[in-house]
Amino acid sequence: MNQQVASPLGIFGGTFDPIHYGHLRTAFEMLQSLRFGEVSFMPCGDPPHRGATCADADLRLAMVRAATDGQRGFSVDDRELLRAGPSYTVDTLSALRSEFPLRSIALIIGMDAFLGLPKWHKWREILPLAHIVVAHRPGWRAPDMGALGDMLADCGTHRINDLHKTRSGHIFVHDVTQLEISSTEIRELIAAGRDPRFLMPDAVRQIIEESGCYQAAAASADPDELHANQ
Ligand code: ATP
Repeated sequence: MNQQVASPLGIFGGTFDPIHYGHLRTAFEMLQSLRFGEVSFMPCGDPPHRGATCADADLRLAMVRAATDGQRGFSVDDRELLRAGPSYTVDTLSALRSEFPLRSIALIIGMDAFLGLPKWHKWREILPLAHIVVAHRPGWRAPDMGALGDMLADCGTHRINDLHKTRSGHIFVHDVTQLEISSTEIRELIAAGRDPRFLMPDAVRQIIEESGCYQAAAASADPDELHANQ
């Protein structure tokens, strides 16, 4: 990552279990329309807010690398996988802030993740370290009350320039193309013996197929619970 580049560094964290076009399209639209210099995909090691992942860290990293390979402006940062203990975003952002003291940093999250922010470790310390850019996600609405509603009222902006002229402190809610894809549904679909084609890059599909990483879930999945159109 280049300290000299003034345009914002987007950080897109997630379990990516597996990565899919909902993630990729969101990151690409942020990169283009918000004029980010780079979007760095950061697979989470030990997610503090949820149970164990289905695919292990090496596989999730391999899938993220395969999905982003060759795309200008996309990079992969494996620091959370290398760090022992829970992957707290605030620790990651502190480390990045030390590395890039002057650069604008924007944490990219979906609306569902944003609504859960108050459960994150030291969540109020995140905004002083980075901007938060929230991607609209089908079925989720921006908060208009409570601690998050207040934070959005105080720190929300509609000006892209605010993300460029300041290093941190703003919340920007961005309308991205709504792709109703989730990793959970993909895992269920594969477990039910269906093909995830067109929900993710073929290179990711290939890793899933070769490793059989979501087959283990097959025994517990109930195909009747899958949406009829998948
Ligand atoms: P799961 O179904 O296992 O919870 P997920 O599809 O939500 O997974 P994550 O890796 O947990 O994927 O998500 C990483 C980030 O990407 C989160 O901030 C999440 O809100 C966002 N995200 C996931 N899917 C989409 C989508 N289809 N559109 C926009 N943002 C998304």
